[in-house]
Amino acid sequence: MSVLVVGSTALDSIKTPKAENPRLLGGSASHAAVAASFFSPVKMIGIVGKDFPKRYLDLYRKHKIDISGLQIAEGKTFHWSGEYEANMNNRRTLSTELGVFENFTPHLPEGHKNSRFVLLANIAPSLQHHVLDQIKKPKFVIADTMDLWLNIALSDLLTLLKRVDAFVLNDSEARQLTDEENVLKALKKIHRLGPTYVIIKRGEYGSILSGPSGLFIAPAFPLERVVDPTGAGDSFVGGLLGYLAAASGPIEKNLRRAIIHGSATASFCCESFGLTRTSRVTSADIKNRVAQLEKMVRF
Ligand code: AMP
Repeated sequence: MSVLVVGSTALDSIKTPKAENPRLLGGSASHAAVAASFFSPVKMIGIVGKDFPKRYLDLYRKHKIDISGLQIAEGKTFHWSGEYEANMNNRRTLSTELGVFENFTPHLPEGHKNSRFVLLANIAPSLQHHVLDQIKKPKFVIADTMDLWLNIALSDLLTLLKRVDAFVLNDSEARQLTDEENVLKALKKIHRLGPTYVIIKRGEYGSILSGPSGLFIAPAFPLERVVDPTGAGDSFVGGLLGYLAAASGPIEKNLRRAIIHGSATASFCCESFGLTRTSRVTSADIKNRVAQLEKMVRF
């Protein structure tokens, strides 16, 4: 089954202690859609400006991503720039220029409204609502977010949480949202806000899933060299939902394996800037890392 992804479609300028790369293809939807495309057909909703390079549209097409719901508007593409410290877990946003996102109203093409697996990747919660409003009968909806929306759009985010099956956030966002240092207490509080499944991402230390059958502790794929982790969280959730949409049987049965496939897919994202590495990966490369992860955690 196909996956519908909405989120940011961006140009990212990224600085690490070792290098600087301007105007790479980025955005939560771009990373998530490419990751999901290894497992399922993907439809992407977003907006870019007339300055958006054709080679990036070609990259979406190479991954067979349906971009009929990607608007190309007069104006500038969303531009984000960020800087990493020597410890790649710490990132600072240098600037966010909304460009065409400022006046974005997502309109789903008719065929997209029947989507069953929906990923509301990181973007303003009001836009996530707007997309969800147009889906007729979703089967499984995952939402992602970021600290910015906890700060400036908390009430929209809280109403969104009542409408989604799963919510993905990182550990610092979970602490901010719940005022809880302890991850188990934070998980309990987030469940009370609505989602059946809560996944807390912990960067290089993996993630924790909490759901009806308890907890699942998932590792991240260990890497010797992290070049640029931008988009790893989006790739994780994209790979996860792409895998779920392709798997047969109940969600509950497949979710753990889906998370491991998300982890394996996200690891490639960290190995070079932007989508450079991920866009060259094959399904066999992902399977190989899943198999290695399986060996590493079995006891
Ligand atoms: P991640 O590293 O998974 O947290 O996601 C990084 C991606 O988020 C980058 O490619 C950015 O373009 C995108 N991004 C940064 N700020 C925002 C924002 N305010 N809204 C939506 N996407 C954003």
